[in-house]
Amino acid sequence: MRITDIDKSLFTNAWIIAETIGGHIHPVTYELIGAARGLADARGSKVAAVVIGGEADASLFAYGADLAIVVNAPGFSGFNDELECAALNYLIEKHKPEMVLCAATARGRALIPRVAVQTVSGLTADCTGLAIDPETGDLLQTRPAFGGNIMATIRTSHHRPQMATVRPNVMKAPPPDPSRSGEIIHETLPVGAARNAKRVIETVRSGEAQINLSEAKAIVSGGRAMKGPEGFNMLKRLADKLGGAVGASRAAVDAGWVAYPHQVGQTGQTVQTALYIACGISGQIQHLVGMQSCGCIVAIDKNPDTPMMRLADIAVTGDVFEIVPAMTEAL
Ligand SMILES: Cc1cc2nc3c(=O)[nH]c(=O)nc-3n(C[C@H](O)[C@H](O)[C@H](O)COP(=O)(O)OP(=O)(O)OC[C@H]3O[C@@H](n4cnc5c(N)ncnc54)[C@H](O)[C@@H]3O)c2cc1C
Repeated sequence: MRITDIDKSLFTNAWIIAETIGGHIHPVTYELIGAARGLADARGSKVAAVVIGGEADASLFAYGADLAIVVNAPGFSGFNDELECAALNYLIEKHKPEMVLCAATARGRALIPRVAVQTVSGLTADCTGLAIDPETGDLLQTRPAFGGNIMATIRTSHHRPQMATVRPNVMKAPPPDPSRSGEIIHETLPVGAARNAKRVIETVRSGEAQINLSEAKAIVSGGRAMKGPEGFNMLKRLADKLGGAVGASRAAVDAGWVAYPHQVGQTGQTVQTALYIACGISGQIQHLVGMQSCGCIVAIDKNPDTPMMRLADIAVTGDVFEIVPAMTEAL
């Protein structure tokens, strides 16, 4: 579809693209619905959850969706970005949403830029804030820019839909209201609407992908101070005591002491755990944007005056190689 000479009044409602993992709704879906709810309320419109392949789940309504648009076609089992892109293009052309929000997950990052190009809409990736300009009604899409040193607010004034991605754990999911219900619209992708050059033969889970920091209860994270992989073994013992996972700064990942899936920050994962223990991480902005929403932040550093020590709820000044074993022992 090509949208030129846009009549913005034709476009209405805030859409979110529902994300599923292993047949279950990914929690980021509810975070997107919460964000879309506020935007739709500001525009006097509705929130629609788009389910590509599968069925609408009642939880979509409980978290704030007014309608679910379910689209199915042969080949929707397993992720196929070409097919899903064709389905979204079809739905966007037919229903004309004003905004489309998608999770910045591996699937979302593969899917939504294709849709943005094909609908000539533009896309703001990894937004940390979304709001409506009260004067123009445009979506204000805020995200870190220039290595996280400034926050840029981007608007898409001349194209529709306005499209943005949001990483998991950046927005808060609203409390569910099980008494809410909504309308379900079933759609079928017309035959021939997709080129479908790809076929998913098999889905294989890599060992590293099982490190899911975003779902951990607690994270014990290490930085350059850990000096090597042995330092991370020490952190792992503390994390195990807490039933948590090990995170890392980019300095530690770049040094090869710990694998990339552990990295927290702008170019790693965004986490929102109840407890985050930063061990010898100075707290540069690119790290902080990935963990500053955690419930309780504990920092351990020799230097009491780092950004991380200033941000922390509990700042412990001292040597990580003395303090971490003592904490593990005490637990
Ligand atoms: C575009 C871009 C993207 C980036 N993305 C990320 C990202 O996603 N995640 C990320 O983490 N970084 C990222 N960075 C890098 C970031 O800017 C920092 O360089 C990095 O976070 C620093 O890691 P660190 O805190 O471990 O190291 P340092 O800044 O060197 O801090 C080490 C800390 O350990 C303390 N220390 C040393 N020895 C001990 C000891 N024995 N006991 C206690 N404390 C000790 C020091 O006092 C210091 O505070 C990015 C940078 C750029 C430009």
